[in-house]
Amino acid sequence: MMAALLLRRDKKSTAAHLKSDLNRTDNSSGVRQLQELLDSVLNPEKPPADTEALDWCKCLIAGEEGFEEFCKTVRSYDNATLCGLVWTANFVAYRCRTCGISPCMSLCAECFNNGDHTGHDFNMFRSQAGGACDCGDSNVMRETGFCRRHRLRTGENVPSVPRDLLLMSEMVLPRFIICIIQYLRDGYTEPDTSAERDLQKVLQQLEPQITFLEELTKMGGAMRTVLTKILTNQQTFKDLSMGQEENVFAKKNYENYLSALKNSGLVSVEEKAQTGAAEPTQGSETGALGLLDGQSIGQRKRVKLSSSTKDPSIMDSLKHKCFLEELLFWTIKYEFPQKMVTFLLNMLPDQDYKITFTKTFVQHYAFIMKTLMKSQESDTMSNRIVHISVQLFSNEDLARHVTEECQLLDIMVTVLLYMMESCLIKSELQDEENSRHVVVNCSEALLKNNTYWPLVSDFINILSHQSVAKKFLEDHSLLMLWMSFVSFFQGMNLNKRELSEHVEFESQTYYAAFAAELEACAQPMWGLLTHCKVKETQEYTKTVVRYCLETLQIWFDAIGFVDELAPNQVTFHLPLHRYYAMFLSKAVKCQGLDLESLLPDQEMLMRIMVHPLQIQASLSEIHSNMWVRNGLQIKGQAMTYVQSHFCNSMIDPDIFLLQVCASRLDPDYFISSVFERFKVVDLLTMASVHQNTALDGEQERPMLEGALTFLVILSSLRIHLGMADDEILRAEMVSQLCMNDRTHSSLLDLIPENPNPKSGIVPGSCSFEEMLSAVADFKAPVFELGGSMQQGMYTPKAEVWEKEFDPIMVILRTVYRRDVQSAMDRYSAFLKQSGMHTTGNPWPPYKERTPLHPCYKGLDRLLHCKTLHIVIFTLLYKIWLDHSNMSEHVLCMVLYLIELGLDNQVEEDKGDEEPCIEEHCHDSWFPGTNLLSNLHHVINYVRVRVPETAPEVKREREPPASTSAEASNFGQNVREAQVFSLVAERRRKFQEIINRSSTEASQAVRPKSSSTRWVPPGTPPQLVTEILEIHESMLSLLIKLHQKLSAKQNSLSATWLEDMDANPNRHAHGDGITAIERILTKAATRSHQSKRSIQEICGKVFPPVAPKKNSPTAKKTMDKEERRQRARERQQKLLAEFASRQKSFMETAMDVESPDTEAAMDLGASEVKESEVLYDCVICGQSGPSTEDRPTGLVVLLQASSVLGHRCKSDEAKKLPTTDEERIYPADTCGAAHDVRLALMQSFFKDSSCLQSVSIGWDGGVYVQTCGHTLHIDCHKSYMESLRNDQVMQGFSVDKGEFTCPLCRQFANSVLPCRPGRSTEVVSWHMPSNKKTSVLVKEVEDLQEQLGFFPVSTTSHCVTFPLQTESNLSKEMELVIKDIKNTTQRKYMDYGKNPGSPDNDFLFMYSVARTNLELELVHRGGNLCSGGASGAAKRSCLNQLFHVLAMHMRLYSIDSAYNPWTRLTQVAPSRDNCLDDERPEVPMLFRDCPSLLIIFVLTMPQPLRKEHFICLVRMLYNLQYTQALAALSAKFSPEERQAWSTSGTLKKNAFNAEKSYEALLSHVITELSKVKTVYDVNTDEPSMLSSSVWSPQSIEYSLQQFCLPYLRLSCLLQHHLYGDNLSGCPEEEEFSGLAGCLGLLDPAPQPSNPMYSASCLDWTVSAFDLMSQWCSEVTGLADTQTLLVQDLQWASPHLLHLPDNYNTIFQYYHKKACTACKKVPKDPALCLVCGTFVCLKGLCCKQHGICECVWHSQHCGAATGIFLLINASVIIIIRGHRFCLWGSVYLDAHGEEDRDLRRGKPLFLCVERYRVLEQQWVSHTFDHINKRWGPHYNGL
Ligand SMILES: [Zn+2]
Ligand SMILES: [Zn+2]
Ligand SMILES: [Zn+2]
Ligand SMILES: [Zn+2]
Ligand SMILES: [Zn+2]
Ligand SMILES: [Zn+2]
Ligand SMILES: [Zn+2]
Ligand SMILES: [Zn+2]
Repeated sequence: MMAALLLRRDKKSTAAHLKSDLNRTDNSSGVRQLQELLDSVLNPEKPPADTEALDWCKCLIAGEEGFEEFCKTVRSYDNATLCGLVWTANFVAYRCRTCGISPCMSLCAECFNNGDHTGHDFNMFRSQAGGACDCGDSNVMRETGFCRRHRLRTGENVPSVPRDLLLMSEMVLPRFIICIIQYLRDGYTEPDTSAERDLQKVLQQLEPQITFLEELTKMGGAMRTVLTKILTNQQTFKDLSMGQEENVFAKKNYENYLSALKNSGLVSVEEKAQTGAAEPTQGSETGALGLLDGQSIGQRKRVKLSSSTKDPSIMDSLKHKCFLEELLFWTIKYEFPQKMVTFLLNMLPDQDYKITFTKTFVQHYAFIMKTLMKSQESDTMSNRIVHISVQLFSNEDLARHVTEECQLLDIMVTVLLYMMESCLIKSELQDEENSRHVVVNCSEALLKNNTYWPLVSDFINILSHQSVAKKFLEDHSLLMLWMSFVSFFQGMNLNKRELSEHVEFESQTYYAAFAAELEACAQPMWGLLTHCKVKETQEYTKTVVRYCLETLQIWFDAIGFVDELAPNQVTFHLPLHRYYAMFLSKAVKCQGLDLESLLPDQEMLMRIMVHPLQIQASLSEIHSNMWVRNGLQIKGQAMTYVQSHFCNSMIDPDIFLLQVCASRLDPDYFISSVFERFKVVDLLTMASVHQNTALDGEQERPMLEGALTFLVILSSLRIHLGMADDEILRAEMVSQLCMNDRTHSSLLDLIPENPNPKSGIVPGSCSFEEMLSAVADFKAPVFELGGSMQQGMYTPKAEVWEKEFDPIMVILRTVYRRDVQSAMDRYSAFLKQSGMHTTGNPWPPYKERTPLHPCYKGLDRLLHCKTLHIVIFTLLYKIWLDHSNMSEHVLCMVLYLIELGLDNQVEEDKGDEEPCIEEHCHDSWFPGTNLLSNLHHVINYVRVRVPETAPEVKREREPPASTSAEASNFGQNVREAQVFSLVAERRRKFQEIINRSSTEASQAVRPKSSSTRWVPPGTPPQLVTEILEIHESMLSLLIKLHQKLSAKQNSLSATWLEDMDANPNRHAHGDGITAIERILTKAATRSHQSKRSIQEICGKVFPPVAPKKNSPTAKKTMDKEERRQRARERQQKLLAEFASRQKSFMETAMDVESPDTEAAMDLGASEVKESEVLYDCVICGQSGPSTEDRPTGLVVLLQASSVLGHRCKSDEAKKLPTTDEERIYPADTCGAAHDVRLALMQSFFKDSSCLQSVSIGWDGGVYVQTCGHTLHIDCHKSYMESLRNDQVMQGFSVDKGEFTCPLCRQFANSVLPCRPGRSTEVVSWHMPSNKKTSVLVKEVEDLQEQLGFFPVSTTSHCVTFPLQTESNLSKEMELVIKDIKNTTQRKYMDYGKNPGSPDNDFLFMYSVARTNLELELVHRGGNLCSGGASGAAKRSCLNQLFHVLAMHMRLYSIDSAYNPWTRLTQVAPSRDNCLDDERPEVPMLFRDCPSLLIIFVLTMPQPLRKEHFICLVRMLYNLQYTQALAALSAKFSPEERQAWSTSGTLKKNAFNAEKSYEALLSHVITELSKVKTVYDVNTDEPSMLSSSVWSPQSIEYSLQQFCLPYLRLSCLLQHHLYGDNLSGCPEEEEFSGLAGCLGLLDPAPQPSNPMYSASCLDWTVSAFDLMSQWCSEVTGLADTQTLLVQDLQWASPHLLHLPDNYNTIFQYYHKKACTACKKVPKDPALCLVCGTFVCLKGLCCKQHGICECVWHSQHCGAATGIFLLINASVIIIIRGHRFCLWGSVYLDAHGEEDRDLRRGKPLFLCVERYRVLEQQWVSHTFDHINKRWGPHYNGL
């Protein structure tokens, strides 16, 4: 009743009335009234689209003042000290590493710009998931980085809020919020029951309401407080949320809510009952890994687990106690609607709210995971989740708080475990049938789509806080749980080697697998490790290590692994091993723990070793092409494993773990295991023939190389064995730089992150830069010829190459094999350049290693074991004897191992120098284990097992020629002969160890038929035992190899050792010979016995070495040669595949490099020859003249250009506006000025006359350029035909006539026919003549008349008539004219009032000539001072072009009655009696002289004699000069005009008055003054002009400047038509130079008289009469002044001037609205020619199917556009229908581009690059220089 009344009243007054009621002391009636009003207004049964309720709320809250006003008032009470601005995806924000405490810190642009971050390590970034500004939050960033506003703690100065201001809000908002909640409850349906689109619909309807809430949060702290109080108040929630029993609707949606709640738990009620029942049956020892049941889903077996969590409440369904909780609940259910998220986040600056919200978020964490997994758009949802969680968990206090109070860690780990459980399958590793291990299935969406990442990244985020990480490490059950999580990834994505057929389908699951291990396992591991760095944390490490070992044990049991691997399997994923390894490493390196105490027994170590070792062997197998049938993806895995982002978490821990194993296990066992895993055991025999059942022949060598390389890496790598972090960083950097020069960013990317964090807040992160400057030199960005641009690069310093280049590190870090070669090539280039090694190919340098950490000393035993020495001996022997499969690489690695052994002696073995006989059978090979003493030990006989067919067998028949004293007795030989079997050896050792360690264990070791590999298949050839006579020691073999390599007998003299000592450094770099010498020297200095032995061997005279057939070096070069040969063949074959026609011309064309083609380009410049000019056809290769029948043509590119039109008066480029105040005015450009002039003329004068008085083509003129190559036009046609049939994708469109020059591959689109030229003719036309000018004038007139007898049309002075004969040549000429017309747009051709009239065509044609002349002038720098030598001239085809144009112009004729020649040369009575009462003709004084000259030249019979040309130039000069006088006089003040008029009159009668500027000027003034209008306009602004006084000098200067453009053009024309040389001159003498060149001036100018301009005049009739006539034409016309004073001089064209700092552009334009569509474009772009701002690709500004950028390129640049993409900082070029990415002109401090602003570092203008861009624009060479063009389909 009351409410109904209120409802009817005006909202505003009601609000006011209620407010006053409520302010009374007894406000109960007010409260009641309000409640009743709200009851009826906020009715959830009404559709939310009805915004009446919303309006009511706004009014009620605001009271009488209105909502806008209210907002302002509330905002003034804002007491926030935090910025807290929340943004969504794509927002531009900043991050400052110097100021950040948390790596997630971010700032809004405003706070960033208002803070001081000079010299800080900051970057700009585009937010992906959204974020919030941290300014003012000292938990996240240092206070020094706060902006001015938030540093001031504004809160303290803000008055407290008046009580009544927000009273209404406090009462209305709870009702409003519950109303929204009810809508949400009502709208929700489970996704399984309905389409999820319904959710979107509900949200859409609620949009205004939620937007309103969001707006409220932006009103500052005061309103936020009100809101947060309401949201967290439990009583209000109780009162409003559940009650209302009487309301059926409310009841219904409440029930809806309850059922939604019920589903929120992780385990549904039914499921719970099930697990509860199953639980007791689980064995306690299996823990979390107990299998519940394996249900078959498809082919894959999916496994479900029961997780024993600590707290079942994590999985329980939810209960809510306040609005906030329910709102968050719905936010999750509705999959995080953006506005809702922003609303909730906007209140975070309120600290209490932040805590409550965080708790609520944690409470819902399991529910979030559940919803995320069900979501259809998990990507968007993930981003939104992280948007929230990053705000909460980056704050350490908050994270610790919720960890303590809400079990955050338990929740997170449990939730992660649950999530992964949904996609587990049975592991097939090892024992496919009986395996009890389960792993994640990498092909499931959860892994493939990375759905887990938000949760994992939250986990990583909280682990970065020390207090939280400690909690985790102290909680053993959590650790156990985490280890079971990690074990889900252990052995995932198993690869099985395909042996027979290629896999049908290359699964790409490995991406998912690698990403999962890195993100879910390794990242948390690194997080934990950062907190285990000091002694105090030893316990943590011990615990983790213990659980690792336990879990590993469980894993070995589960997969049924004993000691033998199942064959042909490999998994790259061993996170448990890697956890173990990395915690071990940290323990030893930082915590001072004893390694021994953390290691398991020997048996366990042997097991741990197997899988990582298998990966190393598999890497080698993959590179040896043994896995080809598994497809390319397996190579992808091998590469990812070592790639910079993964290597720290994968290969490095694996190698380290193997090193640990090697240091503790028996070295003989280890070495033999290695060779067995690499399957090369069979190779290691001294027999010349062997069998290998495991490898194909071609795989043996690479596998052997792999095994040796691995051993070298294992024994020399020190990353975890003693190197300091700095040393590691240095080594990483050096190895990357050695492979290639790197940009700063790519280097940053290539350096593994651990242990040197490149980002983040760890102090000393700047050491990257310091290190970089220590090892590398910066190479500034340079330009290569042809325009390709280099970025700033870092290259190794010379000392680095000399001392630090480490080939082993390079091998370890190479993803692409070619990088190793690249490093070696660069190394040898350095050596050559520095003169350190100049002959042949150097070998990888040997590098000494840092000493081992004492814990790992055992590793050196690897180098001092008999097994390895036997292998080395065998290999040296085989290499010496040139056995197959022995490569240079093998020798290199063998030598490396020897040298490592020499440099790393095992201490306790020192006493072993003396031989001691041991008991084992093979031990008799060598007396001890010390390499140094074994080196000189002589092996006499070796027993080998060989096939009967082996050469050894035959040799045995003859008695052994024994010279050795020890071997006198054959029987002894047999006993002494050495047998060796690696496999047997390993077996034996293994048994020994097992037996030693435990007696029961031996039962476990089944004497399995170890593996079938060693049983030869089929019928094996009979093996026989043979005894080989050897009599060599390692030293003797080395010396023999030295001889072999140097191809010299006795290459080492007996005394060479003594000579050696002098210079120890000599051996650092060199080839194999150097390496052997170095080893021998080392051996000699370290052991007397070795020294003696060496001297002895060297002293012996060796029998001549067998002629070396295949020394490794020679073989290598041969290999290289062979490879090159093969490459050549391949190339040849490719070529052959081209159309045979095309091929034939290609080949012939390649040979044509004759200078004739050059000469042909410029006929005029060519030397005078008797014969016709010959052209070479680049297609058929024939040479001949261009004839009427078979014309030849020049390859040309026609393009429309507006470069001329964009020229300005000022030489300074226009500035790109970067504020709203700045603007660019286009009116002062050349194009605009000419348009205005023509339009003005057309408004006064006859149209056809106007069209002959100007030139067009300033905008959209056609520019013709050539590469200078010629071809037969018929050859060209068939060439085009072949291109059309060619299916290969080309960057150009053949249909549009585009092609590339067959010879030079330059882009072209037409062929310009060459005129059949007889040089003799040219000569005669050149002859100078002494005819009088008047005679010549008459001759010219006659010539013009010759063509002028055709009927005149009434509308036009120009008429067309058919061409006389139709030869092939003339047809082609017409075709090219057509091409020229098609090149530009219609609007650039039709300037006349009658579209399509011949006048238009006429104007367009002669303007083409003008455009090309003008452009050449521009290319020559705007004048002709530099003379004939100009690059542009070489490529000019103006002569040919003129000819073609002239041929075409012959179609037209100028009516003699209107021929300007008459009026130019004769004093005739004015023709007042016009035939038609049309507008008058354009007066001579308004006509453009250069245009007239071109018209005359083109319309007269060709070829034109030079004398006639000169005559034309002279007569037109008279006119030009008169125009100059008229223009000058118009600039005078009336007084000056008067003065000059008077003084000149006196000279009128003097001698030579017709060549006196004073007399002529005076005459012009007098004539023009006859009518007032001419000079009238001036009077308005006399002060401006009178400021300067005209002197004779300034007058002369002005006249010359006015005439110069005409002279330049004439001179250039003369140059092209007659080949006259352009002689250079100083700029101030240009006028006289040109005048002389044209013959206007006497050849010897009078030096006393600098007034040249008048003396160039040459009158055939009375100058004064003629001038009077010209002047009389203009008197009586309006606007004379404007037309008289014209701009003839234009500055050279420029692109806009850009600011130095890119940020200036970016900040203004990235959020600027487009003027056309008024929206902020998604991809804004900027025209660098005119500054127009456009929507790239935007549909908003698309017109006629053309997007704005393309559209603009057509209008601004006649289809050429240069655009800066604001959001990417790169420039794109549009040329016609194609576009290309040009690159960036903005580079960072390291000289690098930052495309798409990914790094966000400050960018600065690279002036050189911008100049190159401008130059390409001006010279029209975009098409030639830029390579990667693609069609844009008008879509840009
Ligand atoms: Zn901010
Ligand atoms: Zn701030
Ligand atoms: Zn900073
Ligand atoms: Zn040809
Ligand atoms: Zn060419
Ligand atoms: Zn433009
Ligand atoms: Zn636009
Ligand atoms: Zn737009």
